[in-house]
Formats: sequence, structure tokens, C-alpha cells
Amino acid sequence: MSKIGFIGLGIMGSPMAGHLVAAGHTVTGFDLSEPALAKLVEAGGHRAADVTEAIAGAEVVITMLPQDEHVEAVTTEVIAAGAAGLLLIDMSTIRPETSKNVAESAAHKGIRVLDAPVSGGEAGARNAALSIMVGGTAEDFAEALPLLQNLGKTIVHVGPHGAGQVVKAANQLVVGGTYALVAEAIVLLEAAGVDARAGMDVLAGGLAASRILDLKRESMIARNFQPGFRIDLHHKDMGIVQAAARQADVSLPMAGLVAQLIAAARAMGHGSLDHSALLKVVETLSGKA
Ligand code: NAD
Repeated sequence: MSKIGFIGLGIMGSPMAGHLVAAGHTVTGFDLSEPALAKLVEAGGHRAADVTEAIAGAEVVITMLPQDEHVEAVTTEVIAAGAAGLLLIDMSTIRPETSKNVAESAAHKGIRVLDAPVSGGEAGARNAALSIMVGGTAEDFAEALPLLQNLGKTIVHVGPHGAGQVVKAANQLVVGGTYALVAEAIVLLEAAGVDARAGMDVLAGGLAASRILDLKRESMIARNFQPGFRIDLHHKDMGIVQAAARQADVSLPMAGLVAQLIAAARAMGHGSLDHSALLKVVETLSGKA
């Protein structure tokens, strides 16, 4: 059993830390939010007053923070206070370049780093059913795997530092693009006077089938946009897709379009709705809002 420091106990981090406690690990957590800390204690973990206290004596540190700047700030503290040999697993969704920079800074102190972003949402975190894409060395991945198996079902070592974030960016591009197309299909069917439910049922059984059609067509047709995964977070992720594309020197025109549609959803005030609310943007473009 490991001694784990866990920083970032939000929607995703809170149930993830709980699974590690349930598996018998000693988990000491830190978050800026008081209720988040109380929840960890309720689950059997220990609360810390700051990052340094959370990672004192830890063999593994896990971070699950919103954006690049939070990860940069917290990992700077972890690197300053952490001992050589520590394994730092950042599970936040951030730019691949930031993950590489963190790994490089940590290496100067003998601290090992994996980028291990996740897919599967809040339900995946609660059910320990996340998909986890891991960048870093094969040795560090092998060491982390038993811990990660408490959090997810599909756990794949996809390459060196930053590779996990590139795979996550590709995931968010496909998810965003699929939502946009499903939204356009619904608007077309409804405007043409065709029963959207019947039409989408046929699509879900043919070559156009997808998990998004399976899981979300009903709630989209019903205009239920309770999150789920918020437009604001997907907006952040499309920024990561575009930064990764620039870094890799490639042109991704669909990514640009999807990013603009998601930006429009945010500008229209839908940032806190589920990303399926792209339907509202597509409706507005056709004067059907
Ligand atoms: P969240 O906002 O619910 O949680 C983030 C937590 O980090 C908050 O509790 C916040 O107080 C804490 N925090 C921020 N700065 C901190 C600091 N300096 N020190 C300590 N704590 C700090 O976000 P979330 O939904 O849990 O997402 C976390 C990451 O996972 C994001 O990068 C997100 O894109 C990614 N992600 C989220 C989902 C999802 O469905 N929510 C799915 C896949 C990936």
C-alpha cells in the first residue's frame, strides 16, 4: 500500500481519491475548497493545510486540477518540497507542452512524472471506469499501473511525456466534432418536418452510430443540457487541441470550426451547460432558437 498525496479534490478528484482510500492506501489531500477537504476526511482520507503538507512522506503524488496554470503552480511546489524518487502523476487535462516542461523540471530533482489525463466524465470517476492515457517512461507506467487500476478500466501507455495529453486532445476533438454533427442532424430533421427520434434511431443503428448518439440523442432532442461535461471545460480543451496542432505543425480545419462553435456556445452564455448544448448554437445559426 502506498502513501499518496492528492491535490485537487473536485468533481473528478474527489471520487478518485475515495477509491484510493477504499483500496487501502493512505491518502492525504489538499484543495482550496473546504467542502472538498471535508469530503475526503469523510471518505477516510486525511486533510492537509497546503501542498507541502499533503506530499510530506508521500511515495506518489496525484494532481487533478482545472487548467495549465493550476498544474504549473502546484507542481512547482511539489518539485520544491518533494524527495528524489517521488512519482508525480498529473491527471488533469492540460497542454502537452506543459506536461513536458513539468517532467523536465522534476527530473532535475530526481522526481519522476507521468501525464495521465482521463476520459469518462464524472460517472467514469465515480464508477472507477475511467479511460486513462498515460505519457512517460515504461518503467514509471508499470509502477503506476496498480494504482491507476483503482480508478479506471482502460489504461494505456501511449508514449513519452506529453503523449497522454496529445491523445486526450484528439479525444476531445472527436467528441466535440461528433456533438456538432449530431446537433446539425437534429436541426435538419426537425426543420424538414421529420420525426427526429425516429430518424436518430435509424442513424444509431447504421454507419453513423457512435457512443454519443447512443447516450445523448434522447437528452439532446428533449433539450436537456444538464452537465455532464461543461462547455467551459470543452472550450479550454479546444484551446489545447489548437496549441497541440500548432506545436505539431499541422492544419486541423475541423478542429478550428469545432472550437469556434464551442466558443459561440460560451459567448451565448451557455458555458455552464453540458457540451451537447452545441445544439443551441446550431439552432441559433438557422434562426430556430
Ligand atoms: P473541478 O473544478 O471540479 O476540480 C478542480 C479542483 O481543483 C477544485 O476543487 C479546486 O478547488 C481545486 N484547485 C484549483 N487550484 C488549486 C490549487 N492551487 N491547490 C489545490 N486545489 C486547487 O474540475 P474537475 O471537473 O474535477 O476537472 C479536473 C480536470 O479533469 C480538468 O483538467 C478537466 O478538464 C479534467 N476532466 C474533467 C472531466 C469531467 O467530466 N468533469 C472529465 C475528464 C477530464
